[in-house]
Amino acid sequence: MKIYLNGTMVDEADAKISVFDHGLLYGDGIFEGIRLYRGCVFRLDEHLERLEKSAHAILLNLPWVRATIAEAICETCRINGLEDGYIRVIVTRGVGSLGLSHLSCNDPQLIIIADKITLYPEEHYTKGLKIITSPTRRINPAALAPMVKSLNYMNNILAKADANRAGCLEAIMLNDQGYVAECTGDNIFIRHKDKWFTPPTSAGALRGITRGAVLDIMEELGFSCEEPNLTRYDIWTADEMFLTGTAAEVIPVVEVDGRSIGEGVPGLLTHKILEAFHDLVGKDGQMI
Ligand code: PMP
Repeated sequence: MKIYLNGTMVDEADAKISVFDHGLLYGDGIFEGIRLYRGCVFRLDEHLERLEKSAHAILLNLPWVRATIAEAICETCRINGLEDGYIRVIVTRGVGSLGLSHLSCNDPQLIIIADKITLYPEEHYTKGLKIITSPTRRINPAALAPMVKSLNYMNNILAKADANRAGCLEAIMLNDQGYVAECTGDNIFIRHKDKWFTPPTSAGALRGITRGAVLDIMEELGFSCEEPNLTRYDIWTADEMFLTGTAAEVIPVVEVDGRSIGEGVPGLLTHKILEAFHDLVGKDGQMI
């Protein structure tokens, strides 16, 4: 496999960065997870816009224009012979001194990995996920804006560990006020009767690209979706639920904290939305 590293394609074994990179020392950097479907990079422009905004928010000046990163992404897919896959774009702060200050770092590193994707096991798309609420809270938006897709995922990793220890693959994370924010790597949608709801980004949710695509699909299908603060009670008593994410796509949830959601089987509308999502990908993006 070839990895893009600062303008050159290198073998996987040679794709190395310095131990003084603040990305390693402090998790100081940003990233994007993007999907390639049938030779089309899904919503590439939106991903790059989010990357640019993340960079701006953490005072990281990207020395590459959007078209350069887009071309590097496409080239990484082409050189690895991929038609379908998962692309990881990483920008680290670069090499600096052993202090926290970002001012000692002047050379951000751009890394692009394009590989095959491992989704949740297929059975979970047909049977639905059983998940829990993690006791690990989402970082307060006043401490770190949830829109910034930073390299520091420690609290999500700990919440994922909570899920795994409970025999689950995902966990809901609440914010410090006790409202539902998102899952460790996925956004949340629930339905009550004929209305859909998803937590607002102000509650601590990442503005997911898949979340955005699903909101577009819902509008097209004529479903209403609101973004109020949601409690665990709202989740437990929902008629239908699914999660969205670049890797997960749209995956049904049938049980939360031991409470069945709706009839305890994947909802019909979830299936309809997933079908519409599959229709959209492969068309909505940039061909490599
Ligand atoms: N929330 C978090 C914390 C994430 O890391 C991700 C991405 N895996 C998502 C939500 C979903 O966002 P997207 O649809 O852009 O992948």
